[in-house]
Amino acid sequence: MGKSLGIFLTGRIATGVIEGQTPCTSVIQYPDDPDDTDSLLDTPLDGLIELVRAQVLRATRESGPVDAVGLAVPGIVRDGVVEDSPNLIQLKGARMVDRMRIALKGIGLVVPVTVLNDADAVAAGVAAKYGRLDKFIRVWTLGYGIGFGRHPYTEGIWEGGHCVVTLDAGEMYCGCGGRGHLEGIMGHRAMRLRFLDMEPEEVFANAKAGDERCVKFVRLWHRSLAAATSNSIHMEGAGRFYYTGFNVRFLDLKLLKHYLQQMIKMSPIQNYVVEAIPMDEDLAVTGAAIAAMHAEGR
Ligand SMILES: [Zn+2]
Repeated sequence: MGKSLGIFLTGRIATGVIEGQTPCTSVIQYPDDPDDTDSLLDTPLDGLIELVRAQVLRATRESGPVDAVGLAVPGIVRDGVVEDSPNLIQLKGARMVDRMRIALKGIGLVVPVTVLNDADAVAAGVAAKYGRLDKFIRVWTLGYGIGFGRHPYTEGIWEGGHCVVTLDAGEMYCGCGGRGHLEGIMGHRAMRLRFLDMEPEEVFANAKAGDERCVKFVRLWHRSLAAATSNSIHMEGAGRFYYTGFNVRFLDLKLLKHYLQQMIKMSPIQNYVVEAIPMDEDLAVTGAAIAAMHAEGR
C-alpha cells in the first residue's frame, strides 16, 4: 500500500500522511497557535502556495516519500481549477493542480496532485474513519461557510451551502452574494454580519437564556439546515447524513429531527439517519489523501 499526503487549506493549513486507507493520526498544523483560525484568509495566492509547500516539506521529512498529494480547498473545483471560492477569494480562477505541481517539483517531489472541494474531502475522511468507505454518505460542514460533501465523489457542483432555504428578500448575508442561501443564515461569517453586537457563541448562549431575538434565530438556523437536508433527501433519497465543522457545537440534533419530521412526509424517504460528529482536521486531511490515492490509481 502506498503513502499519500493530504492537505487541508482554509484559514489554516493542516497536513498529514496516510498509508493505505487508514485515517491519518498525526496532523501538522500551521500556524502553530490553534486559536489563529483566519490569519491566512488575507494571504495572497503566491504566499499561500509557498506556505503549503513548506508544510509538505515538513510532513514528508517525518513520513518519508509519498506517492500522491491531495489538496482540499473551499469552493468549486473542476479539473484542477478553483472556479470560485467565496471564503478564500484569492483562490478564484487559480489553476491549483498546475501551481502545486510546479511548487512541489521545486522541493523534488514529482507525484500526481489532486485538488478537491474541502467538504468532499471531509466526506471521504468521515467514510474512512467511521467505516463507510463502501457506502453512500452525505456530510454538512458547519464553519465559516457551509459545505456539502458526498462520498463516494460524484462529478457535479454540489454547492449545498448555497441552496435556497428562504424566499425572504432580506436574507442576503451569504458570502457569495446570493439571496436566501443556507450559508447566509448558518455560516459563521454570515452570523457575525447579522449580529454585529454579539459573536455567534453569545447568540446561542443568549438563546439558551431565553433572549427572544436569539431564540428566534436559533430556530431559523435549525429549520434552514433541516430544509437543506430535506431538499437533498427529496432529490437523492434518504440515507445517512453527518454534521461536522467547528460550529457543530451549536447543533441540537433533537431540534433538527423535529423540523425534519415536519418536512419529510413520504414514507419511502423517511429512513434517513442524522449524526453529529466532532470536527477534526484529520477528516479533511485523510479525505484529501484518499482522493489523491484513488486519482492516482485511475
Ligand atoms: Zn451563497
